[in-house]
Amino acid sequence: MRKMIYLFFSIIILPVILYSNEPKFQKSLEQEFDDVIMYYAACKKQSFENVKGHMLARKQKYASTLSSVDEIIKNCKKNNKKDEEDLFLDLKITFDFLKKKMGIAREVDLVFCDDPSLQGPCGSLMSYDLHDRMVYIHQNFWDLSPTNIVFTMIHELTHAQQHMRKGSVNFIIEGKDKAYRAQIEREADINAAQIVNCPLCLKVVLAHRLSEEALSTDHQNEKFRKLGYLTSDQLRNYLQQKSLINLCKVHKHFEDPDVWLGLDTQQGREMIDQEDYEGTIFDRVL
Ligand SMILES: [Zn+2]
Ligand SMILES: [Zn+2]
Repeated sequence: MRKMIYLFFSIIILPVILYSNEPKFQKSLEQEFDDVIMYYAACKKQSFENVKGHMLARKQKYASTLSSVDEIIKNCKKNNKKDEEDLFLDLKITFDFLKKKMGIAREVDLVFCDDPSLQGPCGSLMSYDLHDRMVYIHQNFWDLSPTNIVFTMIHELTHAQQHMRKGSVNFIIEGKDKAYRAQIEREADINAAQIVNCPLCLKVVLAHRLSEEALSTDHQNEKFRKLGYLTSDQLRNYLQQKSLINLCKVHKHFEDPDVWLGLDTQQGREMIDQEDYEGTIFDRVL
């Protein structure tokens, strides 16, 4: 009898409890897809079927350039590509961990986009696609250092949070407004600056932004700021709130983290460039 109760609990009750606590989108993927088609059909004064055809054709066009990171890991295993497998596994573990931490629905997937032209669905190193509920990474994405990968991943996952909160049609409508778009980018950057708890990790992000700003014209930097992204000065404010108690697993064993605070010196920057490649990506979120 006791066995039966255990069995009942584990098969019926436990999944119900676990499932009901899981973060979810307000509507299913299919429902939202129909909502979006209906919205575009009304905007363009076209039929539902016509718009649906266009959207499905677009999906079809890029389908061959997209592969789920889970699938990549499986293939690496099969073909004995250990180094590549480790890279993607590290990325996936970090992604799943952050998703859970940020209360994001399990279905949001990490997808690799192998489109060398950058013309496809992912027009940048990393992006969130609300139609497919996916975070895309582009092949050049590996140019980012492990710490900048964490920061960018949190930024993109914040867009998934915003999508869950608003629903896709509202997200699209509000996204047409420049000021609102800046607000969502600002929220994503602020979220990342807050979640990255390790001061040295945030320093790496700051160093990256400083070098980007140095390479850009004043006009480009002003445009970047207007798009809502945090500038180096604003990132510095978040850095000041971090405590050395919260060093991540990579930076914990550094003998003299204070030396790193000399970020604006050539030596400080070189140290950051070199040391940021230690450990795994996941070591930076623990
Ligand atoms: Zn963004
Ligand atoms: Zn760190």
